Amino acid sequence: EGGRQRKPDWIRVRAPTSKGYGETRQLMRDLNLNTVCEEAACPNIGECWTKKHATVMILGDTCTRACAFCNVKTGMPGRVDPLEPGHVAEAAAKMGLEHIVITSVDRDDLPDGGAGQFVKVIEALRAATPATTIEILTPDFRGKMRPAIEAIVTARPDVYNHNLETVPRLYPTIRPGARYYASLRLLEEVKRHDPSIFTKSGVMLGLGEQRLEVHQVMDDMRCADIDFLTMGQYLRPTPRHVAVAEFVTPKAFDAYGAIARAKGFLQVASSPLTRSSYHAGDDFRQMRAA
Ligand code: SF4
Ligand code: SF4
Repeated sequence: EGGRQRKPDWIRVRAPTSKGYGETRQLMRDLNLNTVCEEAACPNIGECWTKKHATVMILGDTCTRACAFCNVKTGMPGRVDPLEPGHVAEAAAKMGLEHIVITSVDRDDLPDGGAGQFVKVIEALRAATPATTIEILTPDFRGKMRPAIEAIVTARPDVYNHNLETVPRLYPTIRPGARYYASLRLLEEVKRHDPSIFTKSGVMLGLGEQRLEVHQVMDDMRCADIDFLTMGQYLRPTPRHVAVAEFVTPKAFDAYGAIARAKGFLQVASSPLTRSSYHAGDDFRQMRAA
């Protein structure tokens, strides 16, 4: 397997050079915040940051896991920053965000898996920018799921997102350390605790999954009452990461999207450059207005 893989024409990414991009970058530096946009080398960074959409990654830049698709560095993370919730709120206020996505690295080292920091961030945001809708994208809180979910759900985020990432057959190679059914159960629990919270999940395509396996994942998600679905092309962040098995065509993404809508998801985003947080705010507002 060679180092580089040729990308098809439909994966076009504009270089991030705009003024909005520079301002967002500086604000994040000033407030000592990490973004998944940068850490995951997201191809949409130019577009999103120009529009002042960003996904803030709390609890440090070092993850206790090592998923085969992910560009975040693995290791022993540092201490939790007590100033972080205030900084996230300040960033949201300064950027005038209508919708914010908050995610984190996995913190298997912390007794609560980091759930307490999610709660503090939500509370700080509600106090500073009450009109901003809040979407959180959390880890699976392995071994601590129940208390973590209870704490976070009580803080009432608008959208609770947790990605299944791929089909169950590929978990041992792509998402070692996670369990497919544990992730499904997490989202089911959120809905059971508070049905007014929208639940959301996503998968990356192009990792070697079969079409019928993707359909099965959709059915599993609907059984767990998951409301929103995102599907996007997996792109290898560096040659050290797992190779792309297939570039799924835009037409195939459209077909998956149509099937997902027929299965009853409230909102579906399916295209090569769809990411979990891509256009999340626009889509959420549109759905609420409908
Ligand atoms: Fe950031 Fe999400 Fe946009 Fe990518 S799609 S740049 S992660 S907000
Ligand atoms: Fe990346 Fe999340 Fe896996 Fe950590 S748990 S390596 S941040 S995908």
